[in-house]
Amino acid sequence: MLRTNTCGELRLANVGQTVTLCGWVQRTRDKGAVLYLDLRDRYGLTQVVFEQGVEADELREQARNLGREFVVSITGRVAERYNKNPNLPTGDIEIRPEAVQVLNPAKLPPFLIEDETDGGDDLRMKYRYLDLRRNPVRRNLELRHRLAQSVRRYLDNQGFLEVETPVLIKSTPEGARDFVVPSRMNPGQFYALPQSPQTFKQLLMVSGFDRYFQIVKCFRDEDLRADRQPEFTQIDCEMAFVTQEDILQTFEGMTRQMFVEVKGFDPGEFPRMSYADAMRLYGSDKPDTRFAMQFVELNEVVKGHGFPVFDSAELVVGINAATCAQFTRKQLDELTDFVKRPQVGATGLVYARVEQDGNVKSSVDKFYSQEVLQQWKQAFNANPGDLLLILAGPADKTRKALNELRLEMGQRLGLRNKEDFRPLWVVDFPLLEFNEEEGRYYAMHHPFTSPKPEDIPLLDTNPGQVRANAYDLVINGVEIGGGSIRIHDRSVQASMFKLLGFSEEEAKAQFGFLLDAFEYGAPPHGGIAFGFDRLCSMFGGADSIRDFIAFPKNNSGRDVMIDSPSEISGAQLKELSIESKVEAAK
Ligand code: ASP
Repeated sequence: MLRTNTCGELRLANVGQTVTLCGWVQRTRDKGAVLYLDLRDRYGLTQVVFEQGVEADELREQARNLGREFVVSITGRVAERYNKNPNLPTGDIEIRPEAVQVLNPAKLPPFLIEDETDGGDDLRMKYRYLDLRRNPVRRNLELRHRLAQSVRRYLDNQGFLEVETPVLIKSTPEGARDFVVPSRMNPGQFYALPQSPQTFKQLLMVSGFDRYFQIVKCFRDEDLRADRQPEFTQIDCEMAFVTQEDILQTFEGMTRQMFVEVKGFDPGEFPRMSYADAMRLYGSDKPDTRFAMQFVELNEVVKGHGFPVFDSAELVVGINAATCAQFTRKQLDELTDFVKRPQVGATGLVYARVEQDGNVKSSVDKFYSQEVLQQWKQAFNANPGDLLLILAGPADKTRKALNELRLEMGQRLGLRNKEDFRPLWVVDFPLLEFNEEEGRYYAMHHPFTSPKPEDIPLLDTNPGQVRANAYDLVINGVEIGGGSIRIHDRSVQASMFKLLGFSEEEAKAQFGFLLDAFEYGAPPHGGIAFGFDRLCSMFGGADSIRDFIAFPKNNSGRDVMIDSPSEISGAQLKELSIESKVEAAK
């Protein structure tokens, strides 16, 4: 190595040693007779002092000419500091240099390489390699590394084999759009990039591999948000000869180990909730259980008193925002505006305050006597000082809107602490989801998911009621993982494809290989995949996954550093037997 030590390593015990450090010049502070230089590498910062009368004048002169981010090698003696810096791990010592060598000069970076930088998002993305020098970003990638190692250790100990699956494949239906790659050797034909390795991991079970995992890139051509990237990483797993219970236990163990090893605390046993309860009590299949504020259904107590909005509604449902009775008119108007936003979709908000004397005052007092309002109070188990927030309308839409309001209230009341982690298994998902517009069913998870055996008779009579052996791991209202027990029987798989609207020919063309494989001894199997980027950002206490990916794409799916996607040459197109004609965006 060109160095004897790193810039984060030296302590009082090293005083007197002669060392060589290599790194980047973080900053120099020139006080005339003495010049301080902070040298930085991945491991930390070390101070180097150039003092008149102690170090040679030429050395100080040389140091004066070092700019920010120059790469240098400094040899010198470790000395105890006169003014110690308790905020720096190396703050007890400094280097008294004997030789300074510039390994490479540097242009002035376009933004400050500091924890608090002056660089905007776009600039930092363009110079991502410089952004990655900053502590907060580097720490995120270190966290990601530690989580990945924890996963590998756990799964290896449990007998899982890490197997790579191909990237140039054909469509896997995870419900998103495919990225496609033209094939030069097969003109006019395209590969699709995997939305997940789903079919391959199932084939590995047919091959007898029994316990598979892979930390793997997946690709989905979707509109992007803070927690989505066109290419993202899954911890993808599959097991044979298991029940749903085995899978939940195995991956609860994996998640718990990550918490213990990386966060230093044991989240205990993960509670479980059925999809039906999650929807009824939280209006969401990924409830944030850091706070209660469960839904209370009110049809029984509110209907029949002449208030047309409630009388005509399919569902009247509310939450108790405990201790919020003092909310001002302005705050309540804000909440009303919030629920009326198109993304939330409610038509209005009814509220009721429980006053100190126990009386309830509502925004619809005209229709409800105090006696009836007391029934509301009872339904909510409300106390003096509480605020009841109530929505009404079509059941699904109203639950969805109340979920948004609940999360908003949780946020306002500071109940969504990022360092409080509440994992939850949501189980018993419906197998199918009905698309009103297209008048057809879609697989809620994916077409390989097995119905619960006891619900199979419903497939013909009431498909929407069929529950699946499918489960999600939710932490703090974020879906972190999801999976299912799979169909392993050719005829069940074929009828599933039929139910989903595939003709026999289509099913054969797209998934014939899997249907064939099921005829050669497919074991019962199931699995799960975790969104690794999301897991990292959650462990890191951030909302965006971008800062946990070394080289992410921006919201338009561009890598502005390497400038991709970009056009390709006519020669390349010709080789691919492709003509490019770009139509104006609609
Ligand atoms: N392939 C599924 C997904 O990407 C996960 C699974 O079923 O294992 O969501």
